[in-house]
Amino acid sequence: MSETYSHSRLSTFENCRKKFYFRYVLKLPDDSEGVEAFVGKRVHEVLERLYQYIDRGHLPRFEQVIERYKANFEEQYDPARIRIVKKGLDKAYYRELGVRCLTHFYRRHYPFDADETLGIEQHVAFPLDSAGDYQIQGIIDRIVRTRDGIIEIQDYKTGNYVPSQSQLDQDRQLALYQIGVAEQLGHRGPFRLVWHYLAKDRTCTSTRSPEKLDQLKQQVMALIDEIRATEDFPAQKNNLCNWCEYRSACPLFGGKEPELATARPGPPGPS
Ligand code: SF4
Repeated sequence: MSETYSHSRLSTFENCRKKFYFRYVLKLPDDSEGVEAFVGKRVHEVLERLYQYIDRGHLPRFEQVIERYKANFEEQYDPARIRIVKKGLDKAYYRELGVRCLTHFYRRHYPFDADETLGIEQHVAFPLDSAGDYQIQGIIDRIVRTRDGIIEIQDYKTGNYVPSQSQLDQDRQLALYQIGVAEQLGHRGPFRLVWHYLAKDRTCTSTRSPEKLDQLKQQVMALIDEIRATEDFPAQKNNLCNWCEYRSACPLFGGKEPELATARPGPPGPS
């Protein structure tokens, strides 16, 4: 069975091969987590729970949603592990960032009866080719059927950055998920890709033609071929280095790189 690739695995290879090597070849355990990722996880888990309740016919009050988020944030915040990179910002700022995201989302979607949930945190795994040599997997925040019959593949973002429409029209992650939703779950569309930029209270959308999806499959299979053929993993300085969980091992930052034979792998790595 061939290895499975996720959007994150592909992006890591594109951004920095050394990081790819640390994470997916050596499978080094993360010794820290950026606070932005931590907030994103807490917001995602609360929205997942919110829709589970709604699915069972019970809509939690806004105050309950915020209380649950704050409780999860405090329970799971480990100052020895969570890294705050941006100068002048602190834990309280990031806790409130999550509150802001959830407040925007709740107010925008209340009373949560505009669409039908088809999947929450839905795992998809599917091949890009008929022989099954190029396997992709991912987790979709929410799959939705709108009142006019459109299948939406939705993603929550908690960062402040909102990409341009042309960037979203090129986005790989949700387009791959659309292929998975059609092939694995059997939905026939029409499809819409939806991003909720929660911190900015903005919702952005895009669509993909069948030709664009075919093109994407070819590009991703070519990238997987390149990854499989790669034996050299140089460090590539980039604008995510400050958030890199392997900085202490990175040669560009004075780290001592573990050898393949001596690295202590963590639990099975992410795909
Ligand atoms: S710190 Fe930067 S250059 Fe070094 S491994 Fe991480 S992403 Fe790559």
